[in-house]
Amino acid sequence: MGSKNQSRSVSRRNLLKFGAGVLGTSAIAAGLSSEILTPRRAIATENLTPDQAIDVLIEGNRRFVDRKRKYPHQDFVRLTEVAMGQKPFAAVLGCADSRVPTEMVFDQGLGDLFVCRVAGNVVTDEEVGSLEYGAAVLGTKVILVMGHERCGAVSAALKGAQVPGKIGSLIEAIRPAIAGKVGSVGSKEAYPPLEAATKANVLYQVEKLKTSPVLAQLIQAGKLKVIGAYYDLDTGTVTRLA
Ligand SMILES: [Zn+2]
Repeated sequence: MGSKNQSRSVSRRNLLKFGAGVLGTSAIAAGLSSEILTPRRAIATENLTPDQAIDVLIEGNRRFVDRKRKYPHQDFVRLTEVAMGQKPFAAVLGCADSRVPTEMVFDQGLGDLFVCRVAGNVVTDEEVGSLEYGAAVLGTKVILVMGHERCGAVSAALKGAQVPGKIGSLIEAIRPAIAGKVGSVGSKEAYPPLEAATKANVLYQVEKLKTSPVLAQLIQAGKLKVIGAYYDLDTGTVTRLA
């Protein structure tokens, strides 16, 4: 166990070094001082706790649903503020579905969210790597895995559909999430099988993410939460699952 912990610390140190290196190289290349890299006005979301970060997302979604969006951080001033450095407060792993645009449904703007979108919101090595980078280097306080109503990828996995090309890789990534957990069509479940399957897939992908030693270390330190959510296409409402 000792060597495992040691390797975790080393990998985190290396990650942080990588992050500093990226910023340092950019600064040197551009010939800029650290002063210029600092945003001109405070970003209110910078020092949030994981629970506060979740609240900001929920409040943003409420504005979206209530048609009271504030369109924060979407002006040119913000663009120039974050041009040389980012501190997104939250990461979202969402589906590629065109009806679930992340910044829009959470009423956020430039530099706020670190977003990975892939059909079926599945956790692959590349998604894990991206989200580890977001959390360990950029400092995201929450990772929200978000499934949605009438997801085509989950539907295809549920039906065991024959699909061309690499689409099957998505189905394979979803299949273990729904195996033995959802009833057949017409069963006495409280909600339709596709909705049950989509929610089971979200929770499965959340648990898969938590097996990342980099993320687990941040979770244990109270610096990160990984949670699941479900997006209702009809109302725009995001509901937390876990
Ligand atoms: Zn989908």
